[in-house]
Amino acid sequence: MSDIFNNELFEAFASASDNVYIYVCDMKTNVSRWSKAAVDYFGLSGEYLEDAANVWGQHVHPDDLKVYTEDISGVFSGEKKYHDCQYRARNAAGRYVWVECKGSVIWDAKGNPIIFAGLMTRIDGQSKYDSLTGLLTTQEMHYFDFASQSGIALLIGLDGFRKIISNYGYNTGDDILIKFSREISDLCKPGWKALRFGGDEFLVIAFASDLQEVTDFYEEICQKTDNVKLEDGRKVGISISAGGAFFPQDADAREVLINKLEHSLEYAKNNQRGNMVFFSEEIARIHERGLVLREDLKQCIRNNFNGFELFFQPFINPVSGAIAGCECLLRWKGERIKDSYPMEFIKVLEDYGDIHEVGFWVMEQAIRQQAAWRDTYGELQVSFNVSYQQFLDDTFEERAISCAQKYGADPNYIIIELTESCQVEAPKELAAMFGRLREQGFKIALDDFGTAYASMEMLKWLPVDYIKVEHSFIRELAQPGHDIDYVIVDSLLEMCRRLGYNSIIEGVEDSKVAAIVGEMNATLLQGYHYSHPICRKEFEKLLDEDRK
Ligand code: C2E
Ligand code: MG
Ligand code: MG
Repeated sequence: MSDIFNNELFEAFASASDNVYIYVCDMKTNVSRWSKAAVDYFGLSGEYLEDAANVWGQHVHPDDLKVYTEDISGVFSGEKKYHDCQYRARNAAGRYVWVECKGSVIWDAKGNPIIFAGLMTRIDGQSKYDSLTGLLTTQEMHYFDFASQSGIALLIGLDGFRKIISNYGYNTGDDILIKFSREISDLCKPGWKALRFGGDEFLVIAFASDLQEVTDFYEEICQKTDNVKLEDGRKVGISISAGGAFFPQDADAREVLINKLEHSLEYAKNNQRGNMVFFSEEIARIHERGLVLREDLKQCIRNNFNGFELFFQPFINPVSGAIAGCECLLRWKGERIKDSYPMEFIKVLEDYGDIHEVGFWVMEQAIRQQAAWRDTYGELQVSFNVSYQQFLDDTFEERAISCAQKYGADPNYIIIELTESCQVEAPKELAAMFGRLREQGFKIALDDFGTAYASMEMLKWLPVDYIKVEHSFIRELAQPGHDIDYVIVDSLLEMCRRLGYNSIIEGVEDSKVAAIVGEMNATLLQGYHYSHPICRKEFEKLLDEDRK
């Protein structure tokens, strides 16, 4: 038996740790010695093994076998200098645990391999590796040098992961994260590093790589994740977005690099979903604006909603041409930002959970206004917008009812518009709440109907009173080549009639469109042609003229 095994050093190292195992292999005989702790923990046949690579191959998880075999054969053929890979190995109890195996070969003067020796470390539960995916954690970033090495860093995020979990459950979520991390590891070029950044985000550090290589990598990942096969055989399509930055050009320090990646990913998710977007000054500016926006909004909320205002856009009765009511639309001017539109600031309110507070303020103003107008103008149908998120607040229903009582408004003239119905995840609960609100007399509208994939499906679940047909079908109705829009709108209205819904056509911008939709038998019409959204005083002027 070779001297290399009868070495006190081997004994000393072997007993040094419970979760680090050592091995030495005589390459001429292909016999190796393993530390006693490894024999016990993995249930090996003894301290001495013949053809350990093969024995070990039987312990490796089938999903990791490729990674393991490629690495070990690369070392033995002389292609790779070091054996260095992570995989799951089956222990004596039959459970798979993550291990990191590192080793190197010693060659003789003639270039023949004589010894292969190294360490195997159990890495589950340690912070260096993520226990779910086995990828490195961000801890490892401390050891990267972004100043003297160059390359590209990518922060990849799964789109809508929260929704995936709520649709499929946590186990499937974990399954997807594991599959995804595997794909990333497999596609990484030698020398690149893949890390779990936390939650549904992954970091890839592509050292010494150019844009083309990274673009190809991203495209391949997108293709792979388009059709992920789960453990139970089901397939799901996952969309990803990524933020990218060059080092050391964009940042040579870890913290700065991470910041820039996070801002780029945020930008990609909000504006260019599914794409890889590289950091730019424009992104920095947008991020900065987002911060100011958020602070200004908070300030206004603290300051008794000072800066918020409701504008009103009339609903027109297509038969009489009279103003039948209005939609209340939120406007806002901050201390520093004065030009933000609802699409922008409502998103910020939603993202930071402030939409609840502001939404209740909108509700109160709208209901108060409806009651206040009654004596002068008669009952007006007044609508206000509510994001799906707001309905998840347990107090929503109770507050709507008590608000109508407080101001003496008749709920029959209050329309609650559900914006972005595509986000609805618990339609049964929402349907029950709509049912109770309708019992009180409130009217429910589905806003922007027809654009979201799930619009029709929603109708099956949700009891509603009004369907608001989305702008995009209406705006170009009078232009040549838009016959299909006409057919869609006409069919939607026919559907409303047959199912007993009222309809509101939004986005009537000019007289030609007004003439077309005027013939279509909608319940109400709305759009710039009749009036832009205007402040209370102007709206009251319109009402005064209308009622003359
Ligand atoms: P929405 O509820 O579909 O409101 C209609 C939007 O269309 C308004 O934009 C309005 O100004 C615009 N609009 C009206 N007529 C026309 C037209 O003829 N042509 C075109 N192109 N557009 C027209 P605005 O005020 O910018 O609001 C955008 C969205 O922000 C609203 O869409 C709604 O989803 C949301 N929003 C507004 N106020 C509130 C609010 O108080 N709470 C919530 N949760 N969302 C709100
Ligand atoms: Mg609306
Ligand atoms: Mg709308």
